Amino acid sequence: MSNFNQESVLSVHHWTDTLFSFTTTRDPSFRFRNGEFTMIGLKVGDKPLLRAYSVASANYEDRLEFFSIKVPDGPLTSRLQHLKEGEQIIVGRKATGTLVIDNLKNGRNLYLVGTGTGLAPFLSIIKDPETYDRFEKVVLLHGCRHVAELAYGEMINDHLPKDDLIGELVRNQLVYYPTVTRDPFRNRGRITDLMTSGKLFSDIGVAPLESAHDRVMICGSPALLQDTRTLLLDRGFTEGNHGEPGEFVVEKAFVER
Ligand SMILES: Cc1cc2nc3c(=O)[nH]c(=O)nc-3n(C[C@H](O)[C@H](O)[C@H](O)COP(=O)(O)OP(=O)(O)OC[C@H]3O[C@@H](n4cnc5c(N)ncnc54)[C@H](O)[C@@H]3O)c2cc1C
Repeated sequence: MSNFNQESVLSVHHWTDTLFSFTTTRDPSFRFRNGEFTMIGLKVGDKPLLRAYSVASANYEDRLEFFSIKVPDGPLTSRLQHLKEGEQIIVGRKATGTLVIDNLKNGRNLYLVGTGTGLAPFLSIIKDPETYDRFEKVVLLHGCRHVAELAYGEMINDHLPKDDLIGELVRNQLVYYPTVTRDPFRNRGRITDLMTSGKLFSDIGVAPLESAHDRVMICGSPALLQDTRTLLLDRGFTEGNHGEPGEFVVEKAFVER
């Protein structure tokens, strides 16, 4: 049996000239845990061209959703950005990844720290009722350079709170904190700076990070991962993985080539 399914593109949405999202059909045999990634791609010639992608839809939804960068000369995304409704895409039959809540010890507050397309795995995690069972407060931080790059803000602010399944959980427990570095906006600055200065915690009315009761998931650039990991290790947090749950987990949103 092939390791891949062919799925049909159902919709495409362009956020900016560097970011877009698309939804596809979902083979019922494709199972994943919220926060995981799989390999997706296109046939180029007679070979598949594949890249890792976080699944942005929740595992109970019947469509798959992906949130993508457009790298102008990127082998996959220079093509993928031209996807049209009805076209076919290759999607792996297996998903994996460290950003799953099972890799975290129990705690009170869950911080989801994403930059750029690093938001994608958290879009499925904030739709998961189990996330709200495990944690009292879920703080979603999305950092970008420009306001236009804060994709999904409307879905998180306006649509999720009205959702039949998780609306009440979202209204009571989710805090969404978008921040940008290069435009005027209500929240400005890098997430690590906002944590170090304490501004983030005073803005959302929560005590500063403590390993005793805070848990953190991080997905972003290699630089964000390094800075946030250092910040957390300095505060006594331990990193978790599949073998051993910890107080924080990290995943690269992309690899520098
Ligand atoms: C675990 C994992 C999960 C990933 N999930 C996603 C996802 O949900 N959405 C997504 O768009 N990409 C994701 N990526 C990156 C993705 O695999 C590809 O790198 C991306 O689609 C670009 O492919 P490409 O062939 O066009 O260019 P590549 O040759 O893969 O990349 C070229 C260069 O573009 C830059 N780059 C690549 N991806 C990104 C990105 N997402 N943000 C900023 N710069 C980038 C890097 O500098 C890289 O060196 C993920 C990567 C990993 C390792």
